[in-house]
Amino acid sequence: MFQVIFLDKDFNNVLNYAVRLCKILRLMLPIAGEVFEMRVAITLACTECKNRNYQSNKNKKNDPDRIEIKKYCKFCKAQTVHKETK
Ligand SMILES: [Zn+2]
Repeated sequence: MFQVIFLDKDFNNVLNYAVRLCKILRLMLPIAGEVFEMRVAITLACTECKNRNYQSNKNKKNDPDRIEIKKYCKFCKAQTVHKETK
């Protein structure tokens, strides 16, 4: 009799723990989704020779527009402006 009550309590504790874990996961999932979905792969192309020199990724939230970065181009053999291409 006592043992049954004790087991029941234990089971309740496990259940409570599982429910709490589910609540935490449900809270964290949208955050995780936002972090992963907002990062997109981009290709950076040299504006001088149009060669696609770099593969990168950006945060769509922070950079909604096409980004421009000065990077070394091995075809122009100089630092040139690289623009994001699709
Ligand atoms: Zn170039």
